[in-house]
Amino acid sequence: MLLTGKKTAIIGGGPGGLTLARLLQQHGADVTIYERDADRHARQQGATLDLHDESGLRALRAAGLLSAFTALYRPGADKLRLTDGQATIVFDQHQETSSPGFGDAHFRPEIDRGPLRDLLIDSLQPHTIVWNCQLRTLEPVADGWQLHLSNGTTAYADLVIGADGANSKVRPLVTPLPPFFTGFTVVEGNVYDAAQHAPNLWALVRGGKVFALDGDQSIILSAKGDGSLSFYTCQRSTETWVRASGINFEDPQHVAAWFAQDFAGWSPIWRELFTAPEAVYFVPRPQYCMPLDQHWDAQLSITLLGDAAHLMPPYAGEGVNMAMLDALELSNCLTSPGFSSIRQAIGHYETAMRQRAAEAARMSIESMEQLHSPGALAWIGQVMGSAVE
Ligand SMILES: Cc1cc2nc3c(=O)[nH]c(=O)nc-3n(C[C@H](O)[C@H](O)[C@H](O)COP(=O)(O)OP(=O)(O)OC[C@H]3O[C@@H](n4cnc5c(N)ncnc54)[C@H](O)[C@@H]3O)c2cc1C
Repeated sequence: MLLTGKKTAIIGGGPGGLTLARLLQQHGADVTIYERDADRHARQQGATLDLHDESGLRALRAAGLLSAFTALYRPGADKLRLTDGQATIVFDQHQETSSPGFGDAHFRPEIDRGPLRDLLIDSLQPHTIVWNCQLRTLEPVADGWQLHLSNGTTAYADLVIGADGANSKVRPLVTPLPPFFTGFTVVEGNVYDAAQHAPNLWALVRGGKVFALDGDQSIILSAKGDGSLSFYTCQRSTETWVRASGINFEDPQHVAAWFAQDFAGWSPIWRELFTAPEAVYFVPRPQYCMPLDQHWDAQLSITLLGDAAHLMPPYAGEGVNMAMLDALELSNCLTSPGFSSIRQAIGHYETAMRQRAAEAARMSIESMEQLHSPGALAWIGQVMGSAVE
């Protein structure tokens, strides 16, 4: 095997990096993950994730983790309600009598980020992850790399894989191509103990998801297993809106005032997301996407996966699925007898990965545009094969 006797460093222990470590360890590779989070208990913020049969679930099957996943996913969390800005329900999957299950290509089981991360961490050999350890810089040494880490140590690796997400430190060593701004900004948030702090929205989401669409604005809600309500608003904006708006996103009252003004035409029910100051957090996220036609030449001993390779907006639900499928395809290439060098294996993986991710990013951009246009509810109704006026 190409990795025999070699040290592999994965930068970032998100879903992509963890899946890759598991798959490579199944083949006996020597793998270390360097992760900036303090420890495995760092809170996993963000919406629930739906895994797709042909990508995320496929990677879990190859990793021998599907049965562990079936014990942790949240049945019913995939059920969607569509509303307008007045919170009037125009489509409701809770009314459907039958729903798909494992083995059905249309089944997209939901899992919270925390349990998915725990599942993957528990599948690794002890001490695979070095926590509280941010990559600062990478220095080429012979055919490999010297890693300079935030805890003041250095480490050598024959192969480096950048799985360090949207603001990857590894990516510039692979390609200078920057992402482009898509014209939209998301404000992500979470209401803890939502039954108490946002009771009407907690009832509306009913353990599943809500897409509220009106004009060029949206709010997406998902119920999480810990009783919190994760959400993100989205609207068209300039690239510099976050700074130019002057909003202090650490002050819930500031954020509530912005929401009341910008979403003034929306039902007051949505304000529940902003009125429990001690129970919320907010992160503004201008939406960037990697170029759809990006290309670079494969390198000797460094590559990328997941958001570091192909950041895209979340409106096709593909980001985590692409990251996990990248892990599977990269692992297959690195452990295949069909390649004579690591560079050749990386090149084969990267060519297919870029093509596949470009298609997912194209879908995601199109979906984001459609969901923030006057015909949004009719469009999504068509996509879902239902009659939504
Ligand atoms: C609001 C929102 C909603 C989303 N909804 C969905 C959805 O419904 N479905 C979906 O498929 N995707 C969704 N996504 C996208 C999804 O979260 C990402 O595509 C996915 O997490 C990418 O996985 P990754 O492993 O590549 O990177 P990440 O999950 O970003 O993980 C990167 C890891 O690297 C670590 N790290 C970063 N820098 C360093 C460093 N220098 N040194 C060491 N460690 C480092 C980070 O701490 C992190 O643990 C959403 C994203 C957002 C923002």
